Amino acid sequence: MAALLTVSGLAAANLEVLPVRPNFYMIAGAGGNIGIQIGADGVVVVDSGSAESADAVVAAIKKVTTQPIRYIINTSADPDHVGGNAIVAKAGQTLFTGNGGAGLAANFLGGGASILSVEQVLTRMSGPSGKPSPYPVEAWPTETFSQPRKYMYLNGEGIEVFHQPAAHTDGDAIVFFRRSDVVVAGDVFDTRRFPVIDVAKGGSIEGEIAALQKLVDTAIPSVPIVSREEGTLIIPGHGRICDQLDVVEYRDMVTIIRDRIRDLMKQGLTLEQIKASSPARGYIHRYGSDTGPWTTNDFVEAVYRSMNGKAQ
Ligand SMILES: [Zn+2]
Repeated sequence: MAALLTVSGLAAANLEVLPVRPNFYMIAGAGGNIGIQIGADGVVVVDSGSAESADAVVAAIKKVTTQPIRYIINTSADPDHVGGNAIVAKAGQTLFTGNGGAGLAANFLGGGASILSVEQVLTRMSGPSGKPSPYPVEAWPTETFSQPRKYMYLNGEGIEVFHQPAAHTDGDAIVFFRRSDVVVAGDVFDTRRFPVIDVAKGGSIEGEIAALQKLVDTAIPSVPIVSREEGTLIIPGHGRICDQLDVVEYRDMVTIIRDRIRDLMKQGLTLEQIKASSPARGYIHRYGSDTGPWTTNDFVEAVYRSMNGKAQ
């Protein structure tokens, strides 16, 4: 992408603000990637990054626009995507006068920006009743939805939010800005590593492949004039800005590894035997890791567990 804006200030030292389209930016370095759409209605922010980076994210947004932040859309309940919710929302201003979108008073939570997510994100952020919530109420989504597709029309373009019900978790959303032609994918797409499939939180390999297919189907590549390098841009949950072909390759990689694991399961191999036979071979150099929070073996195990009993 074109020029890189550097945000001054110590806390913001590691943030990068990348122009994606004339009215669309990506902020990297604040946890998960953040998408920023700017227009006459204000600012729509997809994901708020980690809690530690929230002040720097607000400063970065104010550096590129004087418009108020109106909406945060969360792509999952992961702390590196929702951690900044309270601070970023408070820095903004609700679009609603009178009654809020979910029947809430306009001054609910001080009149900050609205926070939109699928229902499961609110459930996870508010926690089970009778127990302390993992997040303060200011960080919770103010509007949720449970249908497959939620839409808005802001800043002169349609914004579609697609629930992916069992991919990285059960609460993933991908966000498509139709006129900007940008998709913010969240953690169903991570160019740095194998996709994180959190089986305990409702993630599954089949849902992960379905989510990648949804990205492929939503995006349009630069054809027939390939040399123009145009086409839909996809902002992954982590890593670099991609085009449709990048997602096709990633989907194929995930599908090939799924097929290998399924074949080994059909042969009756145990999880340990499957890990030992290296079903991710050919992709480990690019996406794998032996250490850290999401190793190659973690990925293989998640694929195995989410297919368990279904690979016959
Ligand atoms: Zn993430």
